Formats: sequence, C-alpha cells, structure tokens
Amino acid sequence: MTQKVILKKLREIVGPENVLDSPESRTAYSYDAAAMTPCLPFAVIRPADAEAVSRIILLANEERFPVVPRGSGTGLSGGALPSVDSVVLLTNHWNRILEIDQDNMTATVEPGVITAQLHQAVERLGFLYPPDPGSSSICTIGGNVAENSGGLRGLKYGVTKNYVMGLEAVLPTGEILRTGGKSVKDVAGYNLKDVLVGSEGTLGIFTKVLLKIIPQPETHTTMIAFYASMDQAAKTVSAIIAAKITPAMLEFLDNTTIRCVDAYTHLGLPLEAEAMLLIEVDGRRPVVAEDAERIAAICRQYQATSVTTAQSEAESVRLKVARRSAFTSLARVKPTTIMEDVAVPRADLARLIERINEIGKKNGILIGNFGHAGDGNLHPNYLTNERDAEEFARAERTVFEVEEAAIALGGSITGEHGVGLYKKRLLESMVGHPSVTMMRTLKTMMDPNNILNPGKVFDLRPKCEGTLPRDRDKILKFEEVAWL
Ligand SMILES: Cc1cc2nc3c(=O)[nH]c(=O)nc-3n(C[C@H](O)[C@H](O)[C@H](O)COP(=O)(O)OP(=O)(O)OC[C@H]3O[C@@H](n4cnc5c(N)ncnc54)[C@H](O)[C@@H]3O)c2cc1C
Repeated sequence: MTQKVILKKLREIVGPENVLDSPESRTAYSYDAAAMTPCLPFAVIRPADAEAVSRIILLANEERFPVVPRGSGTGLSGGALPSVDSVVLLTNHWNRILEIDQDNMTATVEPGVITAQLHQAVERLGFLYPPDPGSSSICTIGGNVAENSGGLRGLKYGVTKNYVMGLEAVLPTGEILRTGGKSVKDVAGYNLKDVLVGSEGTLGIFTKVLLKIIPQPETHTTMIAFYASMDQAAKTVSAIIAAKITPAMLEFLDNTTIRCVDAYTHLGLPLEAEAMLLIEVDGRRPVVAEDAERIAAICRQYQATSVTTAQSEAESVRLKVARRSAFTSLARVKPTTIMEDVAVPRADLARLIERINEIGKKNGILIGNFGHAGDGNLHPNYLTNERDAEEFARAERTVFEVEEAAIALGGSITGEHGVGLYKKRLLESMVGHPSVTMMRTLKTMMDPNNILNPGKVFDLRPKCEGTLPRDRDKILKFEEVAWL
C-alpha cells in the first residue's frame, strides 16, 4: 500500500482534520528537545480515543509503518524523534483530569495533561503529586510515565513510577490493556504496569493514567548555601544524609551555571562561588524548623560562605528561581546546548564533577553543571554550536566520555531522561548483554512487527553499536533494516 493510500485510511479513522501532512506540520514534528538531527515523519495524527489508536496500530501492523507516540516533545534523549517514514501519534490533546478521588487519594488523568496543571489541581484540594520535572510547565503526564521522569523532589518522594497505580495502554498489537487500579495492595500476576512505565513509547501508548497523590506537607522551608569549593558542597550533601535528614530538594549549581544564571536573572549571586546548594525541607512545622536549623549548621560546618533561609513564601520562590532558570540561562550562551543526564552513587558526585571538568577542558568544551545532588543525578550542559561541525564533534565526544566516566564510577548513563536514540549506543556496555537480550526478547514478543517507536532504547539487530548520535546515515540505515 502506498503512503497515499495509508493517509486515506488514517483520515477515515481519525477524520481528515486530524491528519497533518503538510510540509510545515511534518517539519514541526521532525524533532524534539534533544540536540539531534531531525527526521521528517510522513504524517502527524491526532486520534480521538483509545479505540482510534487501536485501529491505527492494527493498520500499522498490516502496512508495516512505524508509529511514534508524542506528548509535548520536551524529551531530551530523542524518544519522540520520528523514524524514517513514520507516523507521529499525538496524545497532548487529551488533557482532561478525569477524577480526583480524595478518599482513595488518586487522580485519573488523560495522557496529555500538563504536569504542572495536575500539581495545581491537587494542591487546591490539599494534596501533592510529587514528581516535578524541571519541564513540568510544558511536559505531559504521558511523557512522564513513558520516561519514568524524576525531578527536583526525587530524593524524598521518588519518581513517576512510584505514583503510577494503573494504566490504560494500547499495545503494539492493537489490544487495549488495562492494568492496576485503586487498590493499594495488588499482587495478582506479573507487574505489567511497571514493565510499561519507562518503556519510552516502545511497548504501549498510554491513553489513561491512574496516579497516587499524597497529603500536602504542612509547611516547607527553603535555603541556599554557597561554597568556595565543590568538595565542601559535596561533603555537605553527604553530611545532611548521614544526619538522617531527607530534604524534599537538594539541588546543585556549579560556577559556570551560577554565572550564567546571574547574567540572566540579575539575582546578585556571588560570581566567585564554586557551588550553590538549594535545599528544601517539608513536613510538620516543628520538624521542619529543627531540620532547617540542623542543615544550616551542617552547611557552616563545611565552610559555606553564606547560608540564606527564606523567611516567606515569596522569598522561597525567589531562592528557587536560580535553580529553575539554570537551563534557560545556560542555553543563552551558545547556539546549541546539549543537556545531558548522568547519575552516580551520591558519594561519588564530587569525583564525577571533577572528571567532567577534566574531560571538558581536554576537549575544549564549556560545560555548565547542575542537578539533583541528593540523588547523585547531574545534568552537564555542553555549550556548543551545531553549525560548527568540528566543535560539535568535540562536544559529542565529550558527552560520550562523560557517560563512560559515569559508568566507571558505578553510575548510569541516564538518571531520568531515558535512553531514546541518543544513548542506546552505550546501553549494553552499562547494563550488560543478558539484560539487553531480555529487553529485545520482550520487545519482539510484544511488538512482533516492530512498529511502535522502533530503534529507540536499543536496536533489535545491533548494527550501529558505538556510533555517535549524529551518525545519521548509520542510524537511518539501521532503521530501514530493522522494521522491514
Ligand atoms: C528544560 C527541561 C527540563 C527538564 N527537566 C527534567 C527533569 O527535571 N526531570 C526529568 O525526568 N526530565 C526532565 N526533562 C525531560 C522531559 O521533559 C521529560 O522526559 C518529560 O517526561 C517528557 O514529556 P513530554 O510530554 O514532552 O514527552 P515527549 O518528549 O513527547 O516524549 C517522550 C517519550 O515518551 C513517549 N510518549 C509520550 N507520550 C506518550 C504516551 N501517551 N504513551 C506512550 N509513550 C509516550 C515518546 O514516544 C517518547 O519516547 C526536561 C526537559 C527540558 C526541556
């Protein structure tokens, strides 16, 4: 069947107004937030419901075209990047909060609900939905579930998978699966929900999500501390944890990031500081007051040059601006920013930062680091220019070497942004052959024709191991082979 006939059939399923195939629409959905080469889909579609998704998937199986699910496209590992001759399937228009069940403390949402909108809706009722990616004002719950996204509150509250209680998903064979439910305890059969969470759009398309919400903490206190040495900041992080305090946020900015943030926000940050920690504690009032005092004492013990505790909600918001604007501030410096994501055991954070700076210096690439210090999860931002082929190749080499450094420290190539296309070249060296083989087996079993987001996370037939993500020819060559 030609693409023309496939388009006709897609129009029959979703209505002509929901098939976007103009050059402008195809271009608009040819990339996501990862700094990777765009790839044009042959159409972009907006199905109305799970049944329509199911019919599209059945057609895709018959005609063997790839389907790439997409929320807001803020993913940083190329997960929503179309593959050759694929159809991008949008879920961001399903954006209703269907129910907030206060007795069972759950929220049932459509996949296109923006994460921050859910935050606001449950907070109005005195609840908290803790996962809060830095992109929460634009990313969708569907994308969060597919990436198992983390965020600033991960240390105390965990990540998206800790809040998914149930899912409705269209499987790669077209069946509609409903798994999980409102029962807090449920061990009936294999845990299919957790197979789907974090599957990066390769094992199912989420059409409804049941989430756990929790009571909102009574109060919170926000603090920032500056340091003349990275090592002292890292020791503060370890000492806070060793003191058995679990902050809701324990975030970090390095000197390059502090400078860029100050240039952008004019907050008056100390430009000579090597590190900044943003710390927030929440819970019952007396405990929060006591924890905040103990944390301030620990910061001083490790030679913080200044410690500021917010005295009001407005000041708390102001203190968080520095962290929340880190990416935007760094992204102004050079035409291209590669926002990366590596994780190491918390105690090795200072060592990782040292290695990143050594590697950046060796390759002549400017790097701004910030991230979730309490989780050992760092976002090195490589400031470069993709139009300068030589510099961009050096930047990508630097990314690769930093990922290898994280693996060498017993860490991970991704703490929260996922593998997608960008990191699949290193997956096997990190998790090992048996694990990747098991993942491939699962994918092949669930998606025998490899139509759902093919080529993401791993290749089914490993042909381009070791290539850099910009090696587009090799990646495309593989895609062509993989789903034929
Ligand atoms: C400035 C910035 C800050 C960020 N901060 C964080 C952070 O702190 N923590 C963090 O974890 N991430 C962060 N991210 C990454 C990104 O926002 C998350 O991965 C987010 O969950 C992606 O959501 P999305 O709706 O944009 O998904 P998309 O980018 O559209 O898609 C991401 C993946 O999910 C799949 N997908 C999307 N919707 C569905 C669905 N309904 N069913 C099945 N699969 C689906 C796609 O196929 C793709 O593989 C940040 C990104 C930016 C740009």
